[in-house]
Amino acid sequence: MVVEGRRERSDASGRPVNLDVGLATSGRADEGPKMTLFEKIVARQIPAKIVYEDDLVLAFWDIHPQAPVHLLVIPKRMIPRIGSVEPEDAVLLGHLLAVVPEVARRVGVAETGYRLVINNGSDGGETVPHLHCHLLGGRPLSWPPG
Ligand code: 5GP
Repeated sequence: MVVEGRRERSDASGRPVNLDVGLATSGRADEGPKMTLFEKIVARQIPAKIVYEDDLVLAFWDIHPQAPVHLLVIPKRMIPRIGSVEPEDAVLLGHLLAVVPEVARRVGVAETGYRLVINNGSDGGETVPHLHCHLLGGRPLSWPPG
């Protein structure tokens, strides 16, 4: 995949505005040259059971499910983790959450309920450095999480 930088322009206050919320790569400084596992899923280089896709996000089944329903909802554009989110990512992240009700409907947990989890960093249990939101459901989930 060709790695492109962000196209940016400034708003009236001079603050950069990202025009490429849908690009698969961000060009940000902390992005490595290699594609992440999830970028490869977006690019169909690695197979996944995809439940939902639009220009900005992808939702697919987790390969090691921790509940009867366990999906990952990811931005197609690589953002490493919630801790590296920048203000201009707000539209993309808002969209990611906004598609969750539709994703939940498609896998049959809209009425029974579900939990969204974002692991950040080593203590948070993050293992794949491409921002993803776990959608867990299909059984009662205990609280607090381990
Ligand atoms: P994290 O631990 O970073 O919050 O979540 C990463 C998730 O990605 C884990 O739940 C793990 O099971 C899932 N995962 C790892 N490799 C693959 C893969 O190749 N395909 C899919 N569908 N999920 C994966």
